[in-house]
Amino acid sequence: MSDKIQHLERISRQLEPTQEQREEWNAQVQAYADDFINHIETLHAYDEPPQNGRLSFTIGEEGKSLEPLLAEIRAKVDRAGINPASGGHLGYVPGGGIFPAALGDYLAAATNRYSGLFFANPGAVRIENELIRWMCEMVGYPPKSLGNLASGGSIANLIAITTARDFKGIRATRVEKAVVYLTQQVHHCVQKALRIAGLGDAIIRYIPVDGHFRMDTKRLHQQLERDRFQGLMPFLVVGSAGTTDTGAVDPLDEIANLAEQFGLWFHVDAAYGGFFLLVEELKEKFRGIERSDSVAIDPHKGLFLPYGLGAVLIKNVEAQYNAHYYKANYMQDAQQDWEEASPADLSPELTKHFRGLRMWLPLQLLGLKPFRAALEEKVLLCRYFYHKVQEAGFEVGPEPDLSIMIFRYKTRHEDCTRFNEQLVEYVRRDGRVFLSSTTIDGEYWIRLAVLSFRTHKREISLCLDILRAGVQQLLSEQPVAG
Ligand SMILES: *Cc1c(COP(=O)(O)O)cnc(C)c1O
Repeated sequence: MSDKIQHLERISRQLEPTQEQREEWNAQVQAYADDFINHIETLHAYDEPPQNGRLSFTIGEEGKSLEPLLAEIRAKVDRAGINPASGGHLGYVPGGGIFPAALGDYLAAATNRYSGLFFANPGAVRIENELIRWMCEMVGYPPKSLGNLASGGSIANLIAITTARDFKGIRATRVEKAVVYLTQQVHHCVQKALRIAGLGDAIIRYIPVDGHFRMDTKRLHQQLERDRFQGLMPFLVVGSAGTTDTGAVDPLDEIANLAEQFGLWFHVDAAYGGFFLLVEELKEKFRGIERSDSVAIDPHKGLFLPYGLGAVLIKNVEAQYNAHYYKANYMQDAQQDWEEASPADLSPELTKHFRGLRMWLPLQLLGLKPFRAALEEKVLLCRYFYHKVQEAGFEVGPEPDLSIMIFRYKTRHEDCTRFNEQLVEYVRRDGRVFLSSTTIDGEYWIRLAVLSFRTHKREISLCLDILRAGVQQLLSEQPVAG
């Protein structure tokens, strides 16, 4: 048996590469990342997928060398589809990818600290809880509030909704009379979360929006009165602080008034917009967010981190705990009254990536100043575009609350939608910037979403140039009327 063990050890030791091997791999990966970042301005924001996009490497018994693997990643992953690292990414909600966050991830993976339980790693849990409390303070929550660093906004919203459900006592037999208040502009992950949380049969009231796509609170009030009169159980209202379609911020303070009056859990989806609170001049738009019960906010959007970090903030930690804890026998060592709550008791996850480090390290290394400046810059770039695109003959939606807006080219040709679809297609073929579209009340709009930390004036001007050229070309292709 000893021989066999020794033999196996010789092979399994390959999982522990030597310093020399590590240096070689490190150098190659670093060179790849450097090359990517150094050329980011010339890389496209969108590339058509390659003809044969399938990766050619199978998983075999023997290892391979790194160079060809990186070449394959370059060709088939990093040069295909949307490039979220590009400053030209102006579609959907652009992601981030600031470099120090990659270093945080690298360290977290290399040391593999366990951040699920305070007992297992007090330091890691302290870092995560401190980050959460920092965000709680930013939204104006009291010091005892907490929440969780989840993988993204969708899970963050789910944790909040699950907590609201249990706190308001919406058990299976009451679901059909339970009422949730949203607008059509709420992110679809909220409806998804409601279904996952067992609230698929609850009544959803879509409250109309005003001309700025913000929730009409008069209509909310009327609906609440009606529902209460009918003996239903209004229990949850979801406001948006920055909708995905137009970046609209709902009147949070007025919603908070009604939530108080009718005893609702008030959740704010600030996945996209939340970090604009760091910009002094924008704070007023968020007034009332501090009166909510929970907030979803995505550092992988507004804090420019790479994908994989969305936070939920919850005022009543006990409610969050009651909705998520579980006591397993094999975990008995970890169960005591620790000074810090454990993430595993506050979310569906047990073992998880130590994602606090990717957020903590950039904030420490860079300080807040560049983040605040970048966020304000994005808002101003969006406003700049809002004016310039009108000068170029485009129609626009409402003046943007934050850094997302909608616009379209009004042609004299009948099919305005078709024309704008072709325009988006033209922009995509060009590839230097990327735009996406949406449909609101059955009408087609092009969206501009400025949130990449690499989007500056140059990219916005480039976008305007490409749109002007696109319109010229499409108009010249149209049959001349009459
Ligand atoms: C992006 C977004 C979400 C979903 O968050 P993910 O991080 O993609 O899971 C939810 N709400 C809003 C307003 C968003 O912009």
